[in-house]
Amino acid sequence: MSFAALTRLQQGLATLKADHLERRRLLLDGAQGVHVTINGQRVISFCSNDYLGLAADPALIQAAHAALDQCGVGAGAAHLITGHHRFHQAFEAAFARFVGKPSALLFSTGYMANLGVLTALVGRHGEVFADKLNHASLVDAAQLSGATFTRYRHQDLAQLESQLQQSTAQDKLIVSDLVFSMDGDIAAVDALLDLAERFDAWLYLDDAHGFGVLNDGRGGLTECARASDRVIYLATLGKAAGVSGAVVAAHPGVIDWLIQKARPYIYTTASPPMLAACLLESLRQIETGEPRRERLRRHIVRLREGLATLTCGTLMLSGTPIQPLLVGANADAVRLSKSLLQRGLLVPAIRTPTVPVNTARLRITLSAAHSEDDVSQLVEVLHAIE
Ligand SMILES: *Cc1c(COP(=O)(O)O)cnc(C)c1O
Repeated sequence: MSFAALTRLQQGLATLKADHLERRRLLLDGAQGVHVTINGQRVISFCSNDYLGLAADPALIQAAHAALDQCGVGAGAAHLITGHHRFHQAFEAAFARFVGKPSALLFSTGYMANLGVLTALVGRHGEVFADKLNHASLVDAAQLSGATFTRYRHQDLAQLESQLQQSTAQDKLIVSDLVFSMDGDIAAVDALLDLAERFDAWLYLDDAHGFGVLNDGRGGLTECARASDRVIYLATLGKAAGVSGAVVAAHPGVIDWLIQKARPYIYTTASPPMLAACLLESLRQIETGEPRRERLRRHIVRLREGLATLTCGTLMLSGTPIQPLLVGANADAVRLSKSLLQRGLLVPAIRTPTVPVNTARLRITLSAAHSEDDVSQLVEVLHAIE
């Protein structure tokens, strides 16, 4: 039986399809990795955020098995009831020490951490200043906070400065991706901190793509940002860390406030303590992960050299494992992605609304788990199909 509301949904779906904007889920068998079976086809994957190849690492699997025997599967309750396990606490302490911040708080996902931090720190009388290319979760978080939401052009700190100058809000918060998730470029952390200090604002940095990868694995914080009490640092733990969750590191006063006020921390069941035990092992792997990072850096150089003369798209300026190939039209990005898949290479087409109109791209991500041959294959096939 059909009714008007359902018919409108169906028309909306048909429009998405006609505009090449329909999204489909790929079906994965087996473990995450660079050689995977997707929809029954063996492919080399260039689209996960498992930059260090830790998602199926034997040491993490071993840690999970051991923890399961000790603490079972579910956390059973929220952190403020009886869900806060010794493993959660141990991970928070180890993480804070590793990134050089005094205190840390573990959330179930990065999306929830962003909602929690922004809504706890600014309200209706506050103002959030955000880079236009920030991750969608930060946009949602700013809107949910009820604060005035002011966006500046990507990495345009002169515009940010004039916005800060004009602001009359008492609580100000500057928020930026540290490594931009669809572009791969890195925020100007010290210049942002300088503005935060001049205008008495918080600086919240979302390092979902830098933690584990940049700076001996410690992520994209600079020395000044590490030392500043107004800098709040977020790492997500489902990407380079290979597990799940997210962790906020900041001054202990900020962390205590989040425990009292961050609703996505309070009103949700704690993540399984077994995951926190895996995260402790992941942190050890990241700390000793320089050989993985070195391999990743070599892959980045190889890919950039190999694709320098490509004409169907241009590699964006990025020194991180996110290497987007700018194509332009949605349909062209989809066509290239399909041709690659026919040849066993999985590279997603990223389209509006994830990225601005006419900047559709192939988002190539590299992993330490790739071999040199994997990267060479991608280069050769892209030249062959363009
Ligand atoms: C992936 C991502 C998030 C969300 O983290 P999850 O743990 O996957 O919810 C937040 N911010 C950025 C920049 C991301 O890339």
